[in-house]
Amino acid sequence: MRLKDKTILVSAAGQGIGRASAIACAKEGAKVIAVDINEATLASLPQECPGIEIHKLDVRDRGQIIALADQLPQLDGLFNCAGFVHHGTVLDIPEDDWAFSFDLNVTSMYRMIQAFLPGMRERAKTTGTASILNMSSMASSIKGFPVRTLYGTTKAAVIGLTKGVAADFVQECIRCNALCPGTVDTPSLRGRIASAPDPVEAEKNFIARQPMGRLATVDDMTPMVVYLLSDESRFVSGQALLVDGGVTI
Ligand code: NAD
Repeated sequence: MRLKDKTILVSAAGQGIGRASAIACAKEGAKVIAVDINEATLASLPQECPGIEIHKLDVRDRGQIIALADQLPQLDGLFNCAGFVHHGTVLDIPEDDWAFSFDLNVTSMYRMIQAFLPGMRERAKTTGTASILNMSSMASSIKGFPVRTLYGTTKAAVIGLTKGVAADFVQECIRCNALCPGTVDTPSLRGRIASAPDPVEAEKNFIARQPMGRLATVDDMTPMVVYLLSDESRFVSGQALLVDGGVTI
């Protein structure tokens, strides 16, 4: 049990990578607190994986985050997974869309870390370890992709946030890393494919940018998530870890 005795909160746990990560962490012995804005998808999680605790949470709402942090035990692990993919070039981004993407993809992580880090610090004084994982992407400061300017800008900011937090708390054994996936087959990716003018062509194009000739599955991501939240990664901090199927070779 690689996460035995750890309490780990996962955001965006209703579907996709967040959901698979919540389940993977619970299977490795963690007490998992799964949060999402979507109660309907969250509701089936404890049936699928008994023991997972669920809470409706909008990570854009500071009041909700603080109320939840007051109610929960101190965390050993925090996985900030929520994010949104904007489609368009720089010429297609109204300021409201810019602000929304930054709020959900970046500012929400700052809010979550501000609310949960004090408890993690306290707990780390006895356990000697704590881990924050922020969801970035290969589309970030690492690589540019067509019609992903806003998305990539926010995910680059996530890497900056990650490195700053890592630098400030490294001496307290609190680690902070970013996960940078390739293209992962999740409900929102299926939505992006379905809403394209030619969905068959769109799926082909997503696959074509993955040199292994296939999309990633959520289970391609969870081993890295478990590793980064476990003490196996105790000497790893401030890193943007790519799990991209070789896109950036
Ligand atoms: P998804 O996009 O299918 O699901 C996102 C989840 O986030 C949903 O359950 C949704 O209800 C929840 N959510 C949305 N707004 C929220 C809010 N305000 N508060 C709380 N929860 C909220 O899942 P995914 O595709 O696995 O993406 C998860 C993360 O991984 C995102 O940050 C995304 O940018 C990142 N990512 C995804 C891919 C990919 O190809 N799927 C690649 C790289 C990075």
